[in-house]
Amino acid sequence: MRVDWFFWVIIGIIGLAIIVAGVIITIDGRRQRELQTEQKPEIEPTEVEPPVVAPEELQPAGDEPAAVEVEPAPSAVEPEPEPVVVEPELDQPEAPTSRWARLRRRLSTSNNALARALGDLLSADKLDEDVWDDFETTLITSDLGVGPTMELTEALRKELAIDGVADPERAKAVLRSELLKLVDPTLDRSLNLTPAKDGDPAVVLVVGVNGTGKTTTVGKLARVLVAEGKTVTLGAADTFRAAAAEQLATWGERVGVETVRSHEGADPASVAFDAVAKGVDDGVDVVIVDTAGRLHTKTGLMDELGKVKRVIEKKAAVNEVLLVLDATTGQNGMTQARIFAEVVDVTGIVLTKLDGSAKGGIVIQVQRELGVPVKLVGLGEGVDDLAPFDPEGFVQGILGE
Ligand code: GDP
Ligand code: GDP
Ligand code: MG
Repeated sequence: MRVDWFFWVIIGIIGLAIIVAGVIITIDGRRQRELQTEQKPEIEPTEVEPPVVAPEELQPAGDEPAAVEVEPAPSAVEPEPEPVVVEPELDQPEAPTSRWARLRRRLSTSNNALARALGDLLSADKLDEDVWDDFETTLITSDLGVGPTMELTEALRKELAIDGVADPERAKAVLRSELLKLVDPTLDRSLNLTPAKDGDPAVVLVVGVNGTGKTTTVGKLARVLVAEGKTVTLGAADTFRAAAAEQLATWGERVGVETVRSHEGADPASVAFDAVAKGVDDGVDVVIVDTAGRLHTKTGLMDELGKVKRVIEKKAAVNEVLLVLDATTGQNGMTQARIFAEVVDVTGIVLTKLDGSAKGGIVIQVQRELGVPVKLVGLGEGVDDLAPFDPEGFVQGILGE
């Protein structure tokens, strides 16, 4: 008897539980559906132009509740999008200041040797011989070069000997001013784009070792000049590989300027000449000539570069010879720089891949050795990743300011 009674109680409880669960599921389902219908109208109108409603129509109409039209979705199938014609992007390039802001963030990271050397010095409790030795060693690994390293160390030792780094703000101010002296804010870093003869274009010749970023730099520079309202023609004097002219022409299309090119293996001097001749005929403001990357160790190729320049000059004066150096190549980059400078009169340095360099000192060393300013820096592979070199911004970046 007792067991029977217990059995029915259990059955009763289970039955009750099933009924309760059923009720909960039903209520929940209804709530879900309600929620869905509530959300629908919020989503739909964003896809349809809202009807223009005259202000009087917005007045409440008597007691009648405003009829909220809950249009069912017109169709689950979206209309086919129109085929999009991709116009070459001719939008405004990013402002140089915000380009620098990006570089500053990258420069001040702890893996930048120059930044690290200065940071270590600032955080030292006492400036003893060991600290100065470490400082010098780290500066050397930053590609600053021996001369500038000694100068900086000596100047700082003199300045900081008395109060050490007891006052970090003062110590930082000393570092900032000594570093700025080395970078030399007095150098003229503007591109000279004033034609030697009225009516001629300004000619910019871009040279350097393979893979340093010449073609990319030509493209980015053309973009900046076009945005400044200048007319530009590109010359694909890298005739060594067919892909090189293709790469430049692609940049030209992107930026909206013409590219003069020839077949693979054509005489680069001849293509350069033709590009400048076209620039003269069309009356453009600037002709930028891209050249083949050449190993500074191959004298034949280096001679050819001299010839390219001489042949261009039959048509118009060359305003700028920009040597493109990859900042990540360190001392090898320095060797290249010296040899190029012997063959052509380099007027400016473009230091590319500063975004990927863990050094930074090369800016100072290369200017020092060549007596030529770093005019532009490459900050990445994007179209806006080229900026005029800004000494103050560079130093602030290194000091993590
Ligand atoms: P070229 O052989 O000297 O003409 O070099 P390219 O212009 O073809 O560039 C070689 C490679 O370097 C390409 O992948 C570029 O995108 C890349 N590059 C060029 N400039 C920069 C830069 O400033 N930063 C980075 N990270 N990559 C760059
Ligand atoms: P060289 O080879 O050292 O004697 O130098 P040149 O002055 O003869 O020029 C070498 C190359 O540059 C020639 O093969 C031409 O392709 C090109 N070049 C030189 N002058 C001109 C010119 O007036 N017009 C064109 N289109 N190409 C030229
Ligand atoms: Mg190239």
